[in-house]
Amino acid sequence: MGSVMIIGGGAAGMAAAVAAAMCGDRVTVLERMDRVGKKILATGNGRCNLMNTGELRYPGGSTLAENVLNRFGAPEQTRFWELLGLRIRQEEGGRVYPISGAATTVLDTLRQAMRLLGVETVTGVHVQQLQRSRKGWVVQADRVYTTDRVIVAGGGCAQPKLGSDGSAYGLLTSLGHSLSPLKPALTQIITETAPIRGLSGIRVRCDVSLTAAHGGEKVRQRGELLFADYGVTGVCVMQCARWAAPGDVVHINLARAMGFEGAEDLAAELITRRRTWGDDMTQLELLTGLCVPKLAIALMRAAGLDKVSERSAALLSERRIRQIAALAADFCLQVTGVKGFDSAQVTAGGVSCDEFDPATLESRIARGVHAAGEVLDVDGDCGGYNLMFAFGSGVLAGLNGRSFPW
Ligand SMILES: Cc1cc2nc3c(=O)[nH]c(=O)nc-3n(C[C@H](O)[C@H](O)[C@H](O)COP(=O)(O)OP(=O)(O)OC[C@H]3O[C@@H](n4cnc5c(N)ncnc54)[C@H](O)[C@@H]3O)c2cc1C
Repeated sequence: MGSVMIIGGGAAGMAAAVAAAMCGDRVTVLERMDRVGKKILATGNGRCNLMNTGELRYPGGSTLAENVLNRFGAPEQTRFWELLGLRIRQEEGGRVYPISGAATTVLDTLRQAMRLLGVETVTGVHVQQLQRSRKGWVVQADRVYTTDRVIVAGGGCAQPKLGSDGSAYGLLTSLGHSLSPLKPALTQIITETAPIRGLSGIRVRCDVSLTAAHGGEKVRQRGELLFADYGVTGVCVMQCARWAAPGDVVHINLARAMGFEGAEDLAAELITRRRTWGDDMTQLELLTGLCVPKLAIALMRAAGLDKVSERSAALLSERRIRQIAALAADFCLQVTGVKGFDSAQVTAGGVSCDEFDPATLESRIARGVHAAGEVLDVDGDCGGYNLMFAFGSGVLAGLNGRSFPW
């Protein structure tokens, strides 16, 4: 038992506070915003997808994420929430939400547990520095605090308006920790816009891949893609964003979105349609029933065809039809960038995972200092993985090697 000062009252910080206080520590949470847990309220479109019971999916920091979640993963977190009184429900793809369907229920549960356990919460406090003292640590903010242990849970850089302004990194790097490059992740991809003119708002279920400027596939995803005026978004696109760089190419398999395996069987269908009805239908009508007209127009435009709603389908050669089908199976958009931290859901990169003990999240460089949540170089896919890591690492940091008092 001792005193613990937690920097950041987000998901990781609050979970750490509850765990440490349950073990009898004197806990203080220092939060720079006017209230704790602002980001939690924005998660899962206001529903808070708080964990995932499926296979772990962490494109960044998978070793630490697995080490943490093998100790305090979905089964342990389920018991944690039960103990705190939060009822949860599992939905498609292993996604877990509060049964209320409201993120505020998760925040209320954590705040209530902190209050009942005597955790002190101080808001409006921006922590600027950590210094070793003879007996523990000195935390410098608007005033000076002394403590036995510190848990840095200040998050990353994603959506600074919700509190995480990136200042937590400096607290750890000034102690000697290394920082890998920071990049927005789970964000929208900005592309050339001419090929997608008129498509904003159209959704397709498809395969998406990202290739580097000079070839070489970086990542492949399947799911719903949404065209926007600046480029593309949707879960499958956001999960590609951490790898995207200007000059890369997004490949969208629209043939799959139309219910075909690829270019070959789409071409066969279109050739049959043209043979059967070619004289009586326009080039645009060749794609009726397969996709919305705006998408058909974009495809035809990519194939160099115009006036497609006037010209007869019979005028299309088999070679031309195969070209349209090939374009549908590999609709390419050149990447010009990704939306920045203001739009991103998480930060790829962060404080080096190897410098922390996965059992306690204690620094191997500065004893008595722990890190939890997004400040570490861990980022997960959409689906509850990021909150699950924040809660899991927060609890382990709070416990500091003690078992959870179930
Ligand atoms: C819109 C949106 C939707 C999301 N949806 C989901 C989802 O459904 N499921 C999921 O798993 N993940 C989701 N995420 C990601 C997830 O919310 C984060 O990964 C998670 O909240 C990280 O928790 P954290 O405690 O490490 O950091 P944060 O939640 O960012 O908390 C850090 C806290 O520390 C405070 N702080 C920072 N620096 C200082 C300082 N120097 N002094 C004092 N206080 C400080 C901040 O104000 C903040 O309150 C979403 C993110 C966003 C932005």
